[in-house]
Amino acid sequence: MIIMVLNSGSSSVKYQLFNIDKEEVLAKGIVERIGLDGSRLKHITERKDLFIEREINDHDEAVELILKVLVDEDYGVINDIKEIKAVGHRVVHGGEYFTESSLITEEVMKRLEECIPLAPLHNPANIMGIKAMSKILPEIPQVAVFDTSFHQTIPNYAFLYALPYELYEKQKIRRYGFHGTSHRYVSKRAAQLVKMDYNKVKIISAHLGNGASITAISGGKSMDTSMGYTPLEGLVMGTRSGDLDPAIPVALLREKKMSATSIDNLLNKKSGVLGISGISSDMRDLEKAALNGEKRAELALTIYAYRLKKYIGAYLAVLGGADIIVFTGGIGENSSFIREKALEGLDFFGIILDKEKNKKAKKKEVDISDKDSKVRILVVPTNEELVIARDTREIIEREVK
Ligand code: ADP
Repeated sequence: MIIMVLNSGSSSVKYQLFNIDKEEVLAKGIVERIGLDGSRLKHITERKDLFIEREINDHDEAVELILKVLVDEDYGVINDIKEIKAVGHRVVHGGEYFTESSLITEEVMKRLEECIPLAPLHNPANIMGIKAMSKILPEIPQVAVFDTSFHQTIPNYAFLYALPYELYEKQKIRRYGFHGTSHRYVSKRAAQLVKMDYNKVKIISAHLGNGASITAISGGKSMDTSMGYTPLEGLVMGTRSGDLDPAIPVALLREKKMSATSIDNLLNKKSGVLGISGISSDMRDLEKAALNGEKRAELALTIYAYRLKKYIGAYLAVLGGADIIVFTGGIGENSSFIREKALEGLDFFGIILDKEKNKKAKKKEVDISDKDSKVRILVVPTNEELVIARDTREIIEREVK
């Protein structure tokens, strides 16, 4: 069965075309700079890659172009667009409505629109992708896979903030959590790799990319996660601050007369390891700079790893210990330095890293725990698109007659 996966952003659309029976990617690519100068499409297949630069004004044109390329005589991977049986969309926010992936209906579209205030940058783009698809292929079944839905099992004592309760009731201010598709995939895969029953194990899963979050999972259910009402809370990230005293933005507003927009920008775009180091948001640059003796790069790495360790400790307490710790995302999959530093001194909890295995672990599934470690420590590259394609198939097989 051929399934298309779309991840629509405000000015980009990423796609992957799967033969889901073989779990094989037939083609993937991205349309970038939609509605801007220099809009372009990059299309990658086993055989040939294609790069087109031309005017692409909106998401409708982007999707149209992608579909055209997929059946192109030279660069295409299918003969007829009708071979695509369904489309799975990454949707950032499902609010409290969606506890799992869902077939897109008119009712679901209404709910997605209702979630816009919770994700004002992301949900409108996701909706544009869905609408573009249904304009061009009105009959095709579409499925929404949410970043938030995996975390809907978090109990209320962990998702509520200690704020006046009406803010939750009226404005839905609470912890939602993100990266759910990734946490779900890597935690399940980790349990499989060490041959443990996913429905019984306790797992701490750390997704460390440009954005970063960590999740406590028990019996396959998310029990707590570090991102909150927005992706700003929790771990130190590339450019986001993560946790901080909520009085700080108020002080910036009052004392420094900063506007809400500039504070938002400061916390989301200028903070994190970029803010601390003053050098870069990219972990590779910072590791290099630290090796060259740049003190603030070293400090940024130390703070990053310290916050991560603090959350691992918190989630060990939440879960009453852990069977598995799993790392993923660009940093989790590649940075042996961060993994080692975050797990340093946790022997007391039965967490012992095999430093040699850790050093060699890059972008592949591997157990990096010492033979004496009670907790299995794993690296599992994430694959959100595959989860979206799998969910899409499962849902249309069940719900579309
Ligand atoms: P996104 O969240 O945008 O998907 P990624 O998951 O690709 O991001 O992660 C990007 C981060 O991964 C960057 O900080 C990058 O420096 C880091 N990274 C990628 N490769 C390496 C590496 N070999 N060593 C250390 N960090 C790496």
